[in-house]
Amino acid sequence: MLATLPLLKKTDFPAIKRDILNTLQVNLGYLCNQQCQHCHVNAGPKRTEIMNYTTCQQVLNFLNGNNSINTLDLTGGAPELNPNFRFLVKTAREMGRHVIDRCNLTVLLTQDNLAKFLADNQVEIIASLPCYLEENVDKQRGNGVFQDSITALKILNKSGYGSDLPLNLVFNSQGPTLPAPQDSLETDYKKFLYENYNITFNQLYTICNMPIQRFGSILISKGEFANYMQLLRNSYSDANLATVMCRNSISIDWQGYVYDCDFNQMLGLSSNTHISQLNAESLPGNPIIVAEHCYGCTAGQGSSCGGALT
Ligand code: SF4
Ligand code: SF4
Repeated sequence: MLATLPLLKKTDFPAIKRDILNTLQVNLGYLCNQQCQHCHVNAGPKRTEIMNYTTCQQVLNFLNGNNSINTLDLTGGAPELNPNFRFLVKTAREMGRHVIDRCNLTVLLTQDNLAKFLADNQVEIIASLPCYLEENVDKQRGNGVFQDSITALKILNKSGYGSDLPLNLVFNSQGPTLPAPQDSLETDYKKFLYENYNITFNQLYTICNMPIQRFGSILISKGEFANYMQLLRNSYSDANLATVMCRNSISIDWQGYVYDCDFNQMLGLSSNTHISQLNAESLPGNPIIVAEHCYGCTAGQGSSCGGALT
């Protein structure tokens, strides 16, 4: 794996500071049933790093002690493969918090009653489907992934997702380009998936590929890293800077350490604070660690875990 961090550290990205914390994003580990080309986590079936019960308890203690946090956002890898996933979801819901599951769809076919569990607990699903064309999805995410994703989406629709319960899909570009405008792409997705598979969903989120980890390594090996960085820099929009997701959220790794976002987590950019020592009230005004990859959040329409920013 070719490392991108040395290429990203020197930056002129504007300084940004934290605001009130409202979202706790927790990475439950790097284990995944897929191994996608665009993965910024390097997740896969052979990864063994997953959050243990004690750390999950520390996450829940932090959530319980900080009322400003209204959302627990669970990611991975495939977060559902962590044996503590259902315990975390249930406890957070009992605390009255909104819970998001960042789901790769195919995992729904590997776990008993997972769709029912998510529906019963009114968990919002944000699911990756980087294209509505089979060939493109399989090329990026593995053979057969598109058809399995369609099967999973049908199961979710039957469980009330896409109508009574929120089901949002995520698009990312196939290569080193910016995503198309979110609104028009959403219209295309909805039309195609409904007409061809009778599938409905709520919103489409476009997310920019980050020049880090597996995708960053591919860029370097193809000699495309510098051009992609230039594209991100040339597409910088000041309007996106005010709403980058790290202002109101933090990311926790599988061992309980705190980062400004999932991307900084993957690059190891942290202040080495553990969730058990964190005081959320002290966060507003704190500086956020930035590097060149941050231009991926401010390019074009902007990009975040909730899609375009502007
Ligand atoms: S992109 Fe998502 S589904 Fe694909 S390997 Fe990474 S974590 Fe797994
Ligand atoms: S990469 Fe992370 S730290 Fe940088 S702007 Fe985006 S969310 Fe913030």
